[in-house]
Amino acid sequence: MEQVNLDTPRRSRPYIFYDVVRSVCSTCLIRCEGKLIIQDGKVYLDKWCRPCGRERVLVAEDADYWGWARERFMKPAEMPLRFQTPMKWGCPYDCGLCPDHQQHACLVLIEVGDHCNLHCPICFAESGPHRPTWRSMEEIERMLDAVVSAEGRPDVVQLSGGEPTLHPQFWEILDAAKQRPIRHLMINTNGVRIAKEPEFARRLADYRKGTEVYLQFDSLRDEALLRLRGARLRSVREQALENLEANNISTTLVVTVMQGVNDHELGEIIEYALKWRCIRGITLQPVQQAGRHEGYTASENRLTLTGVRKRVLEQSSRFSSDDILPVPCHPDALAMAYGLKLNGKFFPLTGLMDPQVLLNGPDNTIVLEKIPAVREEIAKLFSTGIGPELQAKQLNELLCCLPQIEANGLGYENVFRLLIVRFADASDFDLRSVKRCCIHFAQPDGTIIPFDTYNLFYRDGRREKLEQLRRQVEQHHDL
Ligand code: SF4
Ligand code: SF4
Ligand SMILES: [Zn+2]
Repeated sequence: MEQVNLDTPRRSRPYIFYDVVRSVCSTCLIRCEGKLIIQDGKVYLDKWCRPCGRERVLVAEDADYWGWARERFMKPAEMPLRFQTPMKWGCPYDCGLCPDHQQHACLVLIEVGDHCNLHCPICFAESGPHRPTWRSMEEIERMLDAVVSAEGRPDVVQLSGGEPTLHPQFWEILDAAKQRPIRHLMINTNGVRIAKEPEFARRLADYRKGTEVYLQFDSLRDEALLRLRGARLRSVREQALENLEANNISTTLVVTVMQGVNDHELGEIIEYALKWRCIRGITLQPVQQAGRHEGYTASENRLTLTGVRKRVLEQSSRFSSDDILPVPCHPDALAMAYGLKLNGKFFPLTGLMDPQVLLNGPDNTIVLEKIPAVREEIAKLFSTGIGPELQAKQLNELLCCLPQIEANGLGYENVFRLLIVRFADASDFDLRSVKRCCIHFAQPDGTIIPFDTYNLFYRDGRREKLEQLRRQVEQHHDL
């Protein structure tokens, strides 16, 4: 028997073991096990792959918020009307959606082609001027039909690319989308065409109702834009916004956030956005390690949802911690704050609402203000039944605006939405979370693939790897 010193004190691990995770290896993409641990207020995923070894991935910089979101913001999932693929190889190799997916699509992307007038170093679709291909009208209509058949009345459909505004049949695509019962249509664009062709923006205004421009807007500085987009786009972005403002086209600024490049600018961008009448909000998304940006950032030093949330709270006095809440359909991946712009002032509202409203209402990540329960809650805030705890200075100021609200009604123009969206990549892949992904891609073959798995396994060029992984599952059942 090995000699042990019986008086040696037992040591504790330097972390709290939280849970086991089914993940994939960032190197070979084989399914592997990982464990979630909490250490120094942060959450890490420690993975082990038999051929490739260990990897530690930062999952959250704020373990308290992460745990609260994960445990408190749970609700039964809303299902799509139909699933398109059977369960055969197991998650995540059955996407389409398979019947084990736990969430319908709050938003579906339709990629209309690969061509783009930019060549962004972080493009997950690897689009660019060198790729000439566009999807045909027939394929695009099939994709739109797939979304309608899965969702009935889809909440949000986003036309994406490549750069969708360059598609030779762009207006026909808009007409085709408008003919279908889509509640909210978004155009995911780099804004170059909108900036350079005022006539294009004027024509876009004909589609204004129920349509929103989802405008790439990562930074107010050309150096950061060069790093992220490969071009000095500051003035182009500003011109695009002027043309959108002139035509009063609803716009969301989309900021892809990269550590050390533009993560210090979030407060400034919020202030900038609040100045424009046409801007309805900002979406902040930590850069996904996919496509041209795959494998770029060290896993231990990545930017996460809680990292972005923390930076917003540090850099902006507009929102408090109570305002930026998990979105219940996918709390690991979505956080949201919601406020009103009135008479040149801004009032955050989410912190004044009972979070139960979010939990009980039908979920809709992008157009929350359309949920009747939320509208009612806002109406309640404006009513005379304001309790003493709500008589904060800010609320009193808000009540001063009542006459204006009563005169004009609460309109979409008054809305300002802050959304933080994190897409999983190979590093922080967690099947528990991926199964709840509610942002999906439609495909011409009628399948619908979650964002979290699409760039890893299902995009063109990844299929061969997927087939190899499926073969491995067949050979070694328990991968
Ligand atoms: S991610 Fe969803 S659709 Fe894809 S295999 Fe897993 S459960 Fe099925
Ligand atoms: S990220 Fe968008 S703008 Fe940039 S290359 Fe890709 S499709 Fe084009
Ligand atoms: Zn591996």
